[in-house]
Formats: sequence, structure tokens, C-alpha cells
Amino acid sequence: MWTQRFDLHSHSTNSDGQHEVDDVAEMMEEQGVSVWALTDHDTTSGWKQAAIAAASRGIQFIPGVEITCTPAHPPMPEVLKARGQERASSSWHLLAYFPRHHPAVSETAVDAFKQWLMPRQLGREPRMRLMCARLEALGMPVNIDDVLARADGSVGRPHLAEEMVKLGYVESKHEAFERWLGDGLPAFVAHEKPTIAEAVEAVKAAGGFTSLAHPLYYGVDVPVLMNTLNNLGVDAVEAVHRSHDDMYRHALMEAAVERNMGITVGSDFHGLDYQQRPGCMPVVIDALHPMLTE
Ligand SMILES: [Zn+2]
Ligand SMILES: [Zn+2]
Repeated sequence: MWTQRFDLHSHSTNSDGQHEVDDVAEMMEEQGVSVWALTDHDTTSGWKQAAIAAASRGIQFIPGVEITCTPAHPPMPEVLKARGQERASSSWHLLAYFPRHHPAVSETAVDAFKQWLMPRQLGREPRMRLMCARLEALGMPVNIDDVLARADGSVGRPHLAEEMVKLGYVESKHEAFERWLGDGLPAFVAHEKPTIAEAVEAVKAAGGFTSLAHPLYYGVDVPVLMNTLNNLGVDAVEAVHRSHDDMYRHALMEAAVERNMGITVGSDFHGLDYQQRPGCMPVVIDALHPMLTE
């Protein structure tokens, strides 16, 4: 059995989409989509509006988010070459879904997930500003410009640690990490890009499930990609994406079924100006992740 009712990957003005949430919902309805996920990048800010917009149109809304992660596998040169790709994307995008109707999804756990997601929206410099603000509140003011001056574009905790040594707050960089800057310590603010494993853990804790978005962009062949995902606890793969031809969709679906994983389907709709339309992607119902259909 095939269906075209699902579109589980779309963007609004809450991230880099062209249209307001309401307009996205309207276009989904026009295209015959009845199960819709809004998956803005690293934010859940459109969920409330989307839930209302979907309900008024008789669409089932699935809260989603596309999390920017570090790559879980390096690109394979022979794969890039065979596909005519110059380079692979520098981050892997992990779709996370929290189907509200499902008993595994708890409200309080989803709130904890939102807290986890918050700092991911920040780039490196805003993160560093936050860490400086924490240090100031702890009685150790640091001038952000002095920290940035130590970095060659990509600022990180070691630069802040060096500055703390210079200011005499700590004796060594090691001490700065041990007492203040290490993961979970008082001046620590999470890095914007989690690993796939970290993102999977945060989503699972909230009862949601994950699917790797547009796998074509990463330059990894299907068996290696699917084994990597399976080992990391990723639940599904976005087999049906507008960038995939039928052969690739099929190969991913078969590989997912073999490994007892699900698939998802998404237009990755960003807007009409990009010559895109939502929906209209046939998918095998039985291959979808079970939380979507049960
Ligand atoms: Zn993406
Ligand atoms: Zn996307």
C-alpha cells in the first residue's frame, strides 16, 4: 500500500523557510497532505502555531525539528565522485519527531528536550558571549573581544581558558576546564552542534524518534551509512526526499527494512520561490516508522 498523505519535512519563517507557518499549512492541505511535520532548523518555535493551523484544516500535526549535528562518518571520495558531488555537507541533519498522540511522548520530557535544544541555536560567538556572561556572574569578568582576538575565526573554550589564565582567575588552562568550563560545570554552555549520538539520546529521552535527513548529501554509500545509523540508535532514514531518484529511495528503503529501521518522507519544503512544492511523494506505508502509523 502506497500513500501520498505524509510530508514530514518542511520549513517556515521560524528558520530559513520563506512562508509563515499558516501558509505552509495551507499549502500542505492544497497538496493533499494529511500528516504534516514542521521541522525548522534547531528550533521548536513554530510548533504552537502549526498545531493550531493543522487542527483547523483537519491535518494531523507532528511536532518536529531538524537538528544540525556533526558528521557521524567522513564522506567517501569514490561515492562523491560517482555521484558527481564536489563535496559533502559539513554537518549531518537529524530529524526528530514527537508524535503527541503516542503514549511514549511525555509533555515534561519534551520540555526538557526544548531546554537541551536552546543553546544549539547559537553560533560559536554567541555561545562564547554566554560563557563570558556566566563567568562575570561568577565574579570573573572577561572581555569577549580579548577572547575572540585569541581565536583564528573559530573561537572555542581553549581561548577562553587562556584568557582566564592571563587574568589570574586560574593557574592553568587545565584548571579552567576542571573547575569552570568543562561539560556541565558552572560556566559551561553546550556547543551548538551535538553529535548524532547526543541528539539521539536527547530525543529518545523525550519519547521521540529520529530520522536522518537527505542522506544523499553526506557522500556515504548506503550500507555504510545505514550501519552507522543503526549503531548510533537512529530509528529511521529519510528515504523519500526530493533530491533522491527512485533507485536511491528504493535502496534506502530496502536497507532500512533489513535493519529493522523505519523510513520517513519529506519534501524539505522551503518555499515557492525555490521552485518547491510540499507533499506529493508516494511512500510504502508499511516501511514508515511505526510511531507514524500505529
Ligand atoms: Zn537539512
Ligand atoms: Zn530541511
